[in-house]
Amino acid sequence: MTSPDLAPRATDEPLRVACERLREIADRSAVDGPWQSGGMRLLADLGILGRFVPADCGGSGASEPRLVATLASLAHACLTTALAVSQWAAAVRVITTAKAPVRAALLPALARGETFTTVGISQLTTSRQHLGRPALMADRDGDGWRLDGLCPWVTGAEACDTIVAGAMTPTEGQMFFMVSTAATGLAIDCPLNMLALSGSRTAAVRFRAVRPTHAIASPEPNAPRTGGLATTALAIGSARAAIEIVGREAGRRDGLAPIAAGLSEDLADLTGRLDRAASTAASASEREGLRAAANDLVLRAGQATLAASKGAGFVRGHPAERLVRESLFFLVWSCPQAVTDALLCDLAGR
Ligand SMILES: Cc1cc2nc3c(=O)[nH]c(=O)nc-3n(C[C@H](O)[C@H](O)[C@H](O)COP(=O)(O)OP(=O)(O)OC[C@H]3O[C@@H](n4cnc5c(N)ncnc54)[C@H](O)[C@@H]3O)c2cc1C
Repeated sequence: MTSPDLAPRATDEPLRVACERLREIADRSAVDGPWQSGGMRLLADLGILGRFVPADCGGSGASEPRLVATLASLAHACLTTALAVSQWAAAVRVITTAKAPVRAALLPALARGETFTTVGISQLTTSRQHLGRPALMADRDGDGWRLDGLCPWVTGAEACDTIVAGAMTPTEGQMFFMVSTAATGLAIDCPLNMLALSGSRTAAVRFRAVRPTHAIASPEPNAPRTGGLATTALAIGSARAAIEIVGREAGRRDGLAPIAAGLSEDLADLTGRLDRAASTAASASEREGLRAAANDLVLRAGQATLAASKGAGFVRGHPAERLVRESLFFLVWSCPQAVTDALLCDLAGR
């Protein structure tokens, strides 16, 4: 079974080559991470990372529809690597809003994969919001800044040279700070052992009087930053991988054909909606609607894959058990509160 809308376009040879190779090294990426396995290096060498960097800063500045399609294809090949790329791209997106000298100093090396970066911003949006005080604070310190506190979630912290951290300031609202992972006062916890995606080497990062190398004012200091299309793209790519397995099973068992066809139809519909949303700068509520639909599909597809694969799919190492575990990631990752609330009501039958 194929979903042509999500497969790398016939003309997109670098992405096709990248996805094929990512699949080959997926087992190593799932344990050691895509930095150690060579996945991130490969994506830099093939110019895939450069797509996320503007053309005047050493990248190729691909369009939004192309970027979401790229992320979906990567997630289809290896969700661990796609998560790492999405966090790298979130950091790059912040740096792109900086003043010209900062962009020029940081972005070309990132596009070439000479240095790797990641992002720790969830403490501004979806993590630790109930505590009533910011998890990471930034205070003026002479001619610069100092950071104190915690980023509870940073994908690939141990493997990256820098982190773009989001912090609250006393007078200027939320700001972003570029921090070297070798900075004095910065400590990276052991990577978390998680239900899935432990290869993302996600860890908490602690700051004690850490001096960032660059400060980047937030273009919209109070705007919510959840419900972006990247998270939806990853869910769609993961759903496609699961639906392909149902399709393979359907090739052997007639009864599954309508199940595979129904899921494929939903996938094609959602893929079209994602493409349109990326082309038209969708509103926050449209983006949330898409994320809710993508969460629904990836969860249904994961469970359908397991049910279709039967007991064999329940055995550790079968793609179905991995996909069903990975599908649960979308319940918690950068999920807008409204989407979580609606899902919880559904689960409670309200
Ligand atoms: C694999 C993975 C990788 C990630 N990578 C990154 C990354 O690279 N960068 C990044 O910025 N983010 C990342 N995230 C973070 C993610 O986007 C979310 O911010 C995170 O999942 C939110 O979960 P939390 O436990 O921190 O939420 P919290 O809201 O802090 O909840 C934690 C606990 O606090 C309690 N609690 C919650 N709300 C309340 C309340 N209202 N009253 C009382 N108690 C409450 C509950 O017991 C809850 O279990 C990652 C997440 C995952 C799972």
